[in-house]
Amino acid sequence: MDNPKIWLSSPHMGGTEQKYIREAFDDNWVAPLGPNVNGLEADIENFLGEEKKVAAVSAGTAALHLALILSGIEAGDEVICQSLTFSASANPIVYQGATPVFVDSEPDTWNLCPGALEDAIKDRIALGKKPKAVIAVHLYGMPYKVEEIHAVAGKYGIPVIEDAAEALGSHYKRQNCGTFGPMAILSFNGNKIITTSGGGALVCSDENLKKKAVFLATQARDQAPHYQHSHIGYNYRMSNICAGIGRGQMEVLNERVAQRRAMHAFYAEVFSDTEGITLLKEHDKDYFCNHWLTAILTDSYETREKLRLALEAENIESRPVWKPMHLQPVFKDAPYYGGGVAEDIFDRGLCLPSGSNLTDQDRERIRAVILKHLSL
Ligand SMILES: *Cc1c(COP(=O)(O)O)cnc(C)c1O
Repeated sequence: MDNPKIWLSSPHMGGTEQKYIREAFDDNWVAPLGPNVNGLEADIENFLGEEKKVAAVSAGTAALHLALILSGIEAGDEVICQSLTFSASANPIVYQGATPVFVDSEPDTWNLCPGALEDAIKDRIALGKKPKAVIAVHLYGMPYKVEEIHAVAGKYGIPVIEDAAEALGSHYKRQNCGTFGPMAILSFNGNKIITTSGGGALVCSDENLKKKAVFLATQARDQAPHYQHSHIGYNYRMSNICAGIGRGQMEVLNERVAQRRAMHAFYAEVFSDTEGITLLKEHDKDYFCNHWLTAILTDSYETREKLRLALEAENIESRPVWKPMHLQPVFKDAPYYGGGVAEDIFDRGLCLPSGSNLTDQDRERIRAVILKHLSL
């Protein structure tokens, strides 16, 4: 085929993944524990710094579920969550029988609006229910307004759980995303900046928290020769085979970040002369974004759709920005605070092919469609 599919974001192996998998087979560590699991955790801890402890688990969603359990979220509680995000940021709130309270974004980072967050906290407290946690997302790898968000939540003594699923390799004021709160989650799903095919991690502030997470993730078995349980457990640990992929991927993480950022620079150049189209970009020098996906804001829903369909006709995948959670049928009864920022970004926003494995030929095909489309 002369125009093979160009994907939004596809897996990109580094080369040593199969070595780690082979070791696992040679030593018969074909189980949800072993040297690759420990090795991957150590690699992520070294990368993140800040003396964090990391538990490798089966998915980012599982990591967030564990973070909520460890934050003491129970049935009937309320948890604040950024509305403009992937559904996995909010679903684990419901697993716990708690209620999500959604909050709008601000236009600089597309992430949680500090003002709307404070309005939400104040109003929930006035209604008699103080939110137990805030889930803040670094969307598309862009750090949220770290200082403002943590100041607002801190003022009311509410812990912030960082959803850094899309933000491994991003930092704010030289501190890595995933290290700002007591807990954060990472995802290694197939479409993320690095992958274990499927997997995730819980980043913990100390060893004790990590121990509790691993205990819950391995069926909550008490210390006894027989199987004894005083807690409900989960089967959330990462496979030693998947962790082998992760160890190979960690070796190329910095390269992947550079490649994704180069894709962003490519789009900045392609759109440099076009009026009415802006990129989601670093607000100032404090922000460093891995640009997991490059996202643009067009001047209208119609322009967005025309561009998306023009790319699709050339076998190039692009995707509207996440549909806000407060607009999702499944969350229609959940409280929402804010204005129309997230809705507007959803209407006019588009994610463009951003993979680290795209070729010059791919880029030229993308450029040609965009330029042709924009001259119409
Ligand atoms: C991918 C993602 C998750 C979930 O991670 P999985 O590993 O797919 O379970 C959570 N939040 C955000 C923002 C994500 O993009």
